[in-house]
Amino acid sequence: MPIIKKSNKLEGVCYDIRGPVLKQARRMEDEGQKVLKLNIGNPAAFGFDMPEDMHKDIIRNLSSAQGYCDAKGLYSARVAIYQHYQQKNFFNLDVDNIYIGNGVSELIQLSTQALLNDGDEVLIPAPDYPLWTAAVRLASGTPVHYLCDEQQDWFPDINDIRSKITSKTKAIVLINPNNPTGAVYDVAMIQDLIGVAREHKLLIFSDEIYEKILYDGVTFTSVGSLCDDLPIITFNGLAKTYRAAGLRMGWMVLSGKLASMHDYIQGLDMLASMRLCANVPAQYAIQQALGGVQSIDDLIRPTGRLYQQRDIVYQGLNAIDGISCVKPKGALYAFAKFDRAKFNVHDDEKLIYDLLMQEKILLVHGRAFNWPEPDHFRLVFLPHQDQLKPALAQMARFFDNYKQD
Ligand code: PLP
Repeated sequence: MPIIKKSNKLEGVCYDIRGPVLKQARRMEDEGQKVLKLNIGNPAAFGFDMPEDMHKDIIRNLSSAQGYCDAKGLYSARVAIYQHYQQKNFFNLDVDNIYIGNGVSELIQLSTQALLNDGDEVLIPAPDYPLWTAAVRLASGTPVHYLCDEQQDWFPDINDIRSKITSKTKAIVLINPNNPTGAVYDVAMIQDLIGVAREHKLLIFSDEIYEKILYDGVTFTSVGSLCDDLPIITFNGLAKTYRAAGLRMGWMVLSGKLASMHDYIQGLDMLASMRLCANVPAQYAIQQALGGVQSIDDLIRPTGRLYQQRDIVYQGLNAIDGISCVKPKGALYAFAKFDRAKFNVHDDEKLIYDLLMQEKILLVHGRAFNWPEPDHFRLVFLPHQDQLKPALAQMARFFDNYKQD
């Protein structure tokens, strides 16, 4: 029997959030050890339930959700999405240009597959949510990373973006609020980015899945509400704000200058049809999610669970000698820096592995987010305080003695 090998298309495609250290954590769990998993932003796993009305709407509609629906999604759900973005003053919306997918993940892949030819470049933030880089590679494009600046609250470095644009650049990805840094960009920064995209006629992909997970009263602005003369695709879904990652529900909304997108839209339509449609029962949760009580607000106010966990992690990390962390203004993560020289780190994945083995705490190393230096890690602040506080104390103990060979 010949060896069955993976395709060449997967060369250079990596998604290390679920990489080898996670496999080791699973082995430990199989042996009966308890591991605190601070590696994946899955709210339900930490007792954050989706709003009950969404649950009810899915159940209520189950009997009419047995067949396929339109490839782009249920009309009623797409109208609810349309209204959401109409209220945000998006330009040139059309229900027909709204696609529902099995999570934002599927739509990231669909939108890059439909766009890219060999060697086409896409500007992606570093650090990034690494599915963007993986999807661009898989679509035979070339991810080009622009730097976000830790000294500037992790805002994108516009000069770095400018310097990396070539004749092959087709699109720019913005992740706002950001995973992994927790940055939330202000209007001035978004306007700057639109300016660069305008100069070079770039398509903007705006991943806004953490749209409503905001702290300290920070306001969030969508690119789509600021720009009518460029093609913009905005991504969002139910996984985070509505704590329903398992429903696998996401959407993408085309707005702005649609005239330039007709051919691309044909490609999107074809790929959407090829996967028939997204999970139908789960689509019945969308209308309730967007139109119902926004219970996320209770979690992000100063007395709310997410806000308090964010504070504990931010303070706890900064209290550790050799660790620093910019305060996350949104999302579910802290992206902390460690002093490489102090801990003699040449391999950040090894550091994460060592922490797992010694303290049974699982994080993700910074390079998994396409960060160029081995000097960061990401921590998910979803667990309860009574788990986070001891975990931070354990981390302090670990870093007190840590030195890589
Ligand atoms: N985009 C960002 C920035 C994310 O952080 C995630 C998941 O963590 C996704 C997209 C994927 O979302 P979904 O669960 O809807 O596929």
